[in-house]
Amino acid sequence: MTQINIEGLVKTYEANEDHDVEGNEIVAVDDVDLEIRDEEFLVLVGPSGCGKTTMLRCIAGLESVSDGSIRFDGEEVSHQRASDRNVAMVFQNYALYPHMTVRENLGFGLKLSTTLSSDEIERQVTSIAEMMGIEDLLSKTPGELSGGQQQRVALGRAIVREPEVFLMDEPLSNLDAKLRSEMRTEIQELQNDLGVTTVYVTHDQTEAMAMGDRIAVVNDGTLQQVGIPEELYRNPANEFVADFIGSPSINLITMDASGDRLVSQSGFAYAFDDYRVGDVSTVRLGVRPEDLQIDPTGNDIEVTVVEKMGNENFIYGTLGEKEIVARTDVAVRPETGDRVGISFEEESVYLFDVQTGDSLKTKTDQLSVTQTQV
Ligand code: ATP
Repeated sequence: MTQINIEGLVKTYEANEDHDVEGNEIVAVDDVDLEIRDEEFLVLVGPSGCGKTTMLRCIAGLESVSDGSIRFDGEEVSHQRASDRNVAMVFQNYALYPHMTVRENLGFGLKLSTTLSSDEIERQVTSIAEMMGIEDLLSKTPGELSGGQQQRVALGRAIVREPEVFLMDEPLSNLDAKLRSEMRTEIQELQNDLGVTTVYVTHDQTEAMAMGDRIAVVNDGTLQQVGIPEELYRNPANEFVADFIGSPSINLITMDASGDRLVSQSGFAYAFDDYRVGDVSTVRLGVRPEDLQIDPTGNDIEVTVVEKMGNENFIYGTLGEKEIVARTDVAVRPETGDRVGISFEEESVYLFDVQTGDSLKTKTDQLSVTQTQV
């Protein structure tokens, strides 16, 4: 169906009262290159204000681009109007017409943009309503529907137009946790069945990991890394990605480095067996919570909180000033205020350059180090 190629995309805004910054220009999207493959479900994820909605709106044609190009199957569309691009958007706030019934909301786009007869429109509306499980709601207005039902109508309205591309901007944010996770699966199944190239924006990394074929992590208007979920988790390109992906977040500890030895400001020391830190004097050591073991006989951290999740425990503690967290078996349950030791395997460690944030070592590096030594 459609491959999207974004090259050198820049979007700047004039600063104004609502978007106050120093200087008079806001760079919302800063030189982004991104290929979204045919039929792919690509998630744009990043913190609030990082530019993901702006990027989506540029793809939709709702924002003009300041520089760069957007192509659909090779055809330059960056200066085409939204109505000429054959994309359908789904928004967080549903954006349904409040005075129209569900039936009218679903059929409205077809009425405007096609020459289909009213019978044909009615047939298509009924078939989409069946697909979305909202046949019983066709005569109601949006005000009479729950949030989940409204979002189903909004999705149905997007699907009925048979677009080349779906663009979804935080479509599930207004739903409660249970419904959100149900709708996630539903959207994935629909997208799979329809095979329509989809770009999905969220600030929620769990949602991104659960839904994306690939994920593009954005920060400060720039693309940090694009990859399948496992790749971002195990092989993050930089400290930002390592920190953003994963819940609870990775533990990041600033350490002075010398050869194979690392020492934190609080005096916690760690020595590598196989790995050598290169020519850097300070590094950020990263350990995922599930890779951090707790030793009841040790004395590295003070336990501040123990969260018992039923199938596992999250044990929070302080290493000097730094809060760290371990994800452990339920059998590991120190008391608040206890002092315990921490340990981790060399191959589970990540290292980042404190200046640039670039990755110096990941789990994959460790594997290649071991392999070359064999
Ligand atoms: P959120 O998750 O909060 O929606 P986002 O990642 O989608 O955030 P954008 O809405 O794309 O971020 O905003 C990116 C930057 O551009 C922000 O600094 C924002 O203040 C700015 N911005 C967005 N729209 C405008 C506008 N119309 N005029 C000026 N600045 C804008």
